[in-house]
Amino acid sequence: MKAIKYNLHTHTTRCRHAQGSDREMVETAIAEGFDVLGFSDHSPQVFPVDDYYSTFRMFPEEAAEYAESVRALQKEYASDIKILLGFEAEYYPLAFDALRELVAPLQLDYMIMGQHFVGNEYDEDSFYSSKCQRGDRFLTRYVEQVREGLDTGAFTYIAHPDIVNYQGGDAFYYEQMRTLCRYCREKRIPLEFNMLGYLNSRNYPDPRFWKIAAEVGNQVVLGYDAHDPGMLRRYDIYEACLALLNGLGLKPMNFEEILFKNEAL
Ligand SMILES: [Zn+2]
Ligand SMILES: [Zn+2]
Repeated sequence: MKAIKYNLHTHTTRCRHAQGSDREMVETAIAEGFDVLGFSDHSPQVFPVDDYYSTFRMFPEEAAEYAESVRALQKEYASDIKILLGFEAEYYPLAFDALRELVAPLQLDYMIMGQHFVGNEYDEDSFYSSKCQRGDRFLTRYVEQVREGLDTGAFTYIAHPDIVNYQGGDAFYYEQMRTLCRYCREKRIPLEFNMLGYLNSRNYPDPRFWKIAAEVGNQVVLGYDAHDPGMLRRYDIYEACLALLNGLGLKPMNFEEILFKNEAL
């Protein structure tokens, strides 16, 4: 049987740093032979303060139109491709209830966790996850926050789980990330190998992390993190990432094996 070609990490222009219409994304995915395309744009966030605005995500009032657009395309292209509606969301302890309330009426198919900040983003001791840090506390906070977020049962997988740019000692990194990887294996939460990070030589995918994931034997998903339709055409990047994973003894999951956790949404 032919393996299903899928991508569950796709953005739209609503996040203000992506290009191309929703329709172009869908048509590109069809042309490239995808069987499943999941939209997971940066979720809106409602913060419990009045003076903070997040600039890399859609506004709360745009969420309904986003959902309508994706659902309309899902219907229109039903015979060509399976389209899913989701969000890439943060787990911010102080803003998570508000997020849940906001997404509940949308009846999402899934959410993936993209923990771009440690803390709640708006608060003073918040850190941008991919900014280089050496302090151990930064890493433990990241791991704790991700685990707490996964415990909500709202996330299907972790996008770029290795976004945390800890440049302290390797031994401590291994200890902390092994804990996270073991936890994810136990909970059957797949880890995403982020192809955009690979393409742009970001701090992720972090070779240290993937060595640990291979040792632990985690479930793995390849994510395009498409911020433009062109990314879906990058079969070269797909092949390079696949070769890297295979070299470590890891094999990306078949689509049918992914356990969609949307009952808690
Ligand atoms: Zn983005
Ligand atoms: Zn993303």
